[in-house]
Amino acid sequence: MLVSWNTTNACNLKCPHCYRDAGREAPQELSTTEGYRLLEEVKKAGFKIVVFSGGEPALRSDLCDLIARAKSLGLRPVLGTNGTLLTQEKVQQLKEAGAAAVGISVDSIDPKMHDHFRGVTGAWEATRQGIINCWEGGLPFQIHTTVFPWNYSDIEKITDFALQTGARGHHVFFFVPTGRGKKNIEETITEEQMESLLVRLISLQERLPLEIKPTCAPQFMRIARQLKVPNRFSRGCLAGISYCIIGPQGDVYPCPYMDLKIGSVREKPFSEIWSKHPVLLKLRTQKYGGYCSVCKFRAVCGGCRARAFASSQGNFMDGDPNCLYGCEEEKKMYPVAVELLLRLQEGLPVVSKPYAIIAEELGISEQEIFKTLRWLKSNGLIRRLGGIFDSRRLGYASTLCAARVPQEQLQRVVEIINAYKGVTHNYLREHHYNLWFTVTASSQRELEKVVAEIQQRTALKEFYSLPSQDLFKIAVKFSREELTSVFQKRRSCTESLTE
Ligand code: SF4
Ligand code: SF4
Repeated sequence: MLVSWNTTNACNLKCPHCYRDAGREAPQELSTTEGYRLLEEVKKAGFKIVVFSGGEPALRSDLCDLIARAKSLGLRPVLGTNGTLLTQEKVQQLKEAGAAAVGISVDSIDPKMHDHFRGVTGAWEATRQGIINCWEGGLPFQIHTTVFPWNYSDIEKITDFALQTGARGHHVFFFVPTGRGKKNIEETITEEQMESLLVRLISLQERLPLEIKPTCAPQFMRIARQLKVPNRFSRGCLAGISYCIIGPQGDVYPCPYMDLKIGSVREKPFSEIWSKHPVLLKLRTQKYGGYCSVCKFRAVCGGCRARAFASSQGNFMDGDPNCLYGCEEEKKMYPVAVELLLRLQEGLPVVSKPYAIIAEELGISEQEIFKTLRWLKSNGLIRRLGGIFDSRRLGYASTLCAARVPQEQLQRVVEIINAYKGVTHNYLREHHYNLWFTVTASSQRELEKVVAEIQQRTALKEFYSLPSQDLFKIAVKFSREELTSVFQKRRSCTESLTE
């Protein structure tokens, strides 16, 4: 479990992709004392690793004190830095304080391109010197690179650089447009490029002794499985499950790229936010939408929740819209789903394995039927699939009630009615009689008793029980064209993929 703490918003570089929009120190950043308290809470919440990041964490004058406190609490303190301020002296101080490792950002091995992107001339040279200082000072380090179209083809060259400089790893970050990055970065890599770079990186991992870790492209776990390349990671996306981020002023987010504040450590202890916040609890259910809902890799991948959040008006549990595999697989499901729904509308064969019969009829496997039904349900395309019992033949009695309820009494009345187990529907209508509900009971006598009790407890004057005289069933069936148009309207994947 790891937590990332953006210790400051201050930064000496001007990178356009920065999710923090860093530059100047933010007003009222967490003080040293607040930082100590936060670290204690982080430990209490069960985290093992704390990443001190920024802005540029080396600009915090109390950085070594904070690292020392984390270390004394039994946490593993590491640093995310641009490396430009890692002088020999600073490296020694960090080591003495207990820093276990540092991650240093390098986006190109061409100094001009790196400087251009980082917005400051001389940044590359300062970072290179920082790397040398870490190596010479014995502070373990890894290289961090964020991928864009302009450096997409050069990633392996940066891996070689990491190898030559003695880095323990090369972590490749897949950009999610948020913060300043959303305003400044016009072009991001395509889904196809993302997929092919992940294949490249995982294949490279097989051959090289340093750790190559794609970050914020959780599909790398799927691809590693598909290519049968083992790795030490348990999961692609950790947001809310074993990872979250804390901003310089103490605001907590499930991930840096999800603009969804879930609390402030100034208002509530961090351990409480972590264990109880509904957003985090929901993320932990792993009940996803889109193709992620049925994907066989969902337990190890999980899809990027921030990309789902950004593409579906805040539904962070939706399918990952940038997963090439998921989008292609989902598109393949559409015709199967149409045929299945058409067939189900005709009724189920009354046998012990009805879906096996339907599978044979449709020329697909029974498993494929179950998967399609799970996908339809997870994505709200069907609500329920099940038997309807004729309650009368089971000896039950039922009635429909209509009542006129003054607006100011609605809440009270609804609470009374809904508390009865036999009430199966209760809904408002725009009508003189504005509340309608059905009641079912195990006998006519019991039914009359319940209805009389409801009337007496609600004290409604205009109240009618309307038992059915005759029963009519209306068969509502959708045509192939209607069902097809539902799927054509789905846009869980990016436009280019669904066209
Ligand atoms: S939600 Fe996306 S960006 Fe955030 S941690 Fe997960 S994979 Fe990374
Ligand atoms: S469909 Fe979802 S769970 Fe499956 S690989 Fe793609 S992002 Fe991961």
